[in-house]
Amino acid sequence: MALTPMMQQYLEIKKQVPDAILFFRLGDFYEMFFEDAKLASKELEITLTGRDAGEPERVPMCGVPFHSADNYISKLIDKGYKVAICEQVEDPRAARGIVKREVVRVITPGTVIDGSMLNEKDNNYLVALCQVNTGTYGMAVTDLSTGLFQVTEMEGPWALDGLLDEVVRLSPREVLLTHDVIKDEKAARVLNSLPATTLTTLGHISDLPDYWQILTDHFGADKIAAYLNKQAMCQAAGSLLRYLTETQRRKLKHITEITSYSPKAYMVLDGVARRNLEITRSLRVGEKKGTLLWVLDKTRTAMGGRMLKNWLEQPLIDLVKIQERLDAVEELVNSLLLREELAGALKQIYDLERLTARAAYGSANGRDMTALLGSLEKLPLIHEALQQCQSPLLRSICAQFDTLADLRDLLFSSLAENPPVSLRDGGLIKEGYHAEVDQLRAAARDGKAWLAGLEAREKEKTGIKNLKVGFNKVFGYYLEVTRANLNAVPDYYQRRQTLANAERFITPELKEYESMILGAEDRLVELEYNLFVEIRNRVAAEVHRIQKTAALVAQIDALVSLAEVAARQGYVRPEVSDDGRIEITEGRHPVVEVTLGPGGFVPNDTYLDTENQRLCLITGPNMGGKSTYQRQVALIVLMAQVGSFVPASRAKIGIVDRIFARVGASDDLTSGQSTFMVEMFETKQILDHTTPKSLVIIDELGRGTSNLEGMAIAQAVIEYLHNAVGCRTLFSTHYHELAELEGLLPGLKNYATAVKEQGNQVAFLRKVVRARASKSYGVHCARLAGLPGDIIHRAAELVQQLEYHQRAAQEVVAGKNQVAVAIHEQQLTMFSTEHDWLREEILALDIPNMTPLQSLNYLDKLQRKL
Ligand code: ADP
Repeated sequence: MALTPMMQQYLEIKKQVPDAILFFRLGDFYEMFFEDAKLASKELEITLTGRDAGEPERVPMCGVPFHSADNYISKLIDKGYKVAICEQVEDPRAARGIVKREVVRVITPGTVIDGSMLNEKDNNYLVALCQVNTGTYGMAVTDLSTGLFQVTEMEGPWALDGLLDEVVRLSPREVLLTHDVIKDEKAARVLNSLPATTLTTLGHISDLPDYWQILTDHFGADKIAAYLNKQAMCQAAGSLLRYLTETQRRKLKHITEITSYSPKAYMVLDGVARRNLEITRSLRVGEKKGTLLWVLDKTRTAMGGRMLKNWLEQPLIDLVKIQERLDAVEELVNSLLLREELAGALKQIYDLERLTARAAYGSANGRDMTALLGSLEKLPLIHEALQQCQSPLLRSICAQFDTLADLRDLLFSSLAENPPVSLRDGGLIKEGYHAEVDQLRAAARDGKAWLAGLEAREKEKTGIKNLKVGFNKVFGYYLEVTRANLNAVPDYYQRRQTLANAERFITPELKEYESMILGAEDRLVELEYNLFVEIRNRVAAEVHRIQKTAALVAQIDALVSLAEVAARQGYVRPEVSDDGRIEITEGRHPVVEVTLGPGGFVPNDTYLDTENQRLCLITGPNMGGKSTYQRQVALIVLMAQVGSFVPASRAKIGIVDRIFARVGASDDLTSGQSTFMVEMFETKQILDHTTPKSLVIIDELGRGTSNLEGMAIAQAVIEYLHNAVGCRTLFSTHYHELAELEGLLPGLKNYATAVKEQGNQVAFLRKVVRARASKSYGVHCARLAGLPGDIIHRAAELVQQLEYHQRAAQEVVAGKNQVAVAIHEQQLTMFSTEHDWLREEILALDIPNMTPLQSLNYLDKLQRKL
């Protein structure tokens, strides 16, 4: 049996979009068939039915009403699916045979533009990553909802690592990759660890399109000329654009600029550092609350929110640019009035970037356009406030600021005040904008006024008291007379419809007015729609200008936000320089201090330089405040390089090129790696990439293995960072023994978190002091955590025993114990390279836990081996 023609059409269309769920328009529904139907019915929790398709078995089918489709689409997109929208592209009444249908758009996670599917303060990034030849990679990124389009490339042994850091920074909803990148183990690990990212393959590099043609067609030869020698970034850009054209199936008028940037122009932060410092996403739940952004974001506009987030994710390394931002923030900190003026205007500005993008896309409705108008009306207030400013950055923003007066005038004169959501109901155009609209409205109004009087007039003429004027879609306007009064109906009434107890009539006059009213209304809706589209197109033609202004508004919003938080939280302007010194007086952790509330946080000082104090070794009990302190230093440095004031009473910040932050042991269960291996991978990452200008934060290392090995690894890493790299490092450890390194390594200084002991009670003072810790207070912490009393008691007993043995071992070293002296003396002579095996065996001994008898036996064994 053959398939029905409609099913054949369905299958033809489905072939074009094999990796998307096809929403096939049938009348008032979008229907899904076959596997799509099974999948969608499960994901959307809608009933799976079947449809006769001409074959013996019915094919699986499910559907959603077209007017509520957005909801269902967004659910599928959220789950990482792609949805292809197939519409009827001709009027079913005019169609001969089957109605023509086409895919009008494929919505993918990275190409969403509908506001209800987006977080307003987050960009929705789509990234393409290509390897063009060994060691050369290009990347392009777009946010279709705002029109951003950026490109970059890297080459050399760390090129892929560098671009993966970028991908992590962007945290895109969708990544397009060439085959070589997908095959790379590290890339797979990094990309799979991203939350909510859909990966799509671009195929082999040889399958990629002729990027040059694509880019020239879209951006024009002039703008592309600068990219002549940039094959990698152009390849990525071309592939990205092709994907956009294939999915969006329209001209993307709002992607007007292609800009290249170098990740090296910003502070580098890898995924591990971003996660551990909780810059924009919290470690545990991955949300904004509890992050640096959460504290600093007081922005009023969506684009300002996105801008600030981008700033925090991309701190600067150029002293001049940092000073520029700091000057602007300072000016705003110093003037409450200026801040308030700007804030007052900003809070009434909608998302200019996304509104314009929708205008250019042809999807903006009347309400979007009035929101745009409302926003444009506030621009002169911002411009005016900026005129008083002195700082170079604010002055330059003011100089470039285009208040878009022409567009505001156009929208003000043309748009009706409260337009409906639909574009097909009229009510879009303002009185006085277009003569014909006004005439048609008057005609409809007059007709209706005549109708309003008709009922009374006819009642009077005919004497029928309950005569009524009514309207329905089939018969239009009519006069209704109940059966009892039919004898009073005059001759010129013409019968149209008979009901159970009434009849409906028309008159020639009524029909005349009817066609006047309905004709006017139809024509009005049509005309208003056309005028609206024309106005929208005129806005779309200026998209580039609006985008530029939007970016300036975003900057101001972000600066005002930084200034406001600085003023409220008592931050100071950091003195930023290139001299490598970090000197913080009374520093605070910006997030913890907010969580603890006023007076709750204990401030701490920090000193680091590239010479005599490049490595601070911090010991102290658990819960003493080590992690908080380390992160606080990293965050203060980061904030300073963003151009923000910092939580301290004074701060001198020598610019860092990169911050590493390895914290604790984070189980990476998804990658199937053990805690220890993750720790080692992260450490390798630091050792591979750190430079003398970097800031390294290591909070515990070597916990996942035996004490001895853990300590050995920690010490080796400390020595390497101190001797070979010379970067500034804060290293916290629970191996108190490592404090012995002070004196041996000239740039290492010991610090500890202070503890006050009174009888059985221990108080953590959260003060970081120049000292070394002597005790761990682990049992105390266990008690705080509420472990059963028996266990606490037994643990305390064991600690005493173990300490006893440890002391005995120390006596060994001090020569007070004869057995030990024997071993020790042997050691001195044994540590030549020819006895490496011996050295290793002895180093592996757990001396504190050996009894004197065991030591003797061991010595005996050794003697026999030699
Ligand atoms: P550690 O790394 O030594 O185990 P943490 O840094 O995790 O300790 O701090 C333990 C607790 O002490 C946290 O709950 C934190 O909020 C609090 N804390 C840390 N530093 C301070 C401080 N400077 N002032 C007040 N509370 C602090």
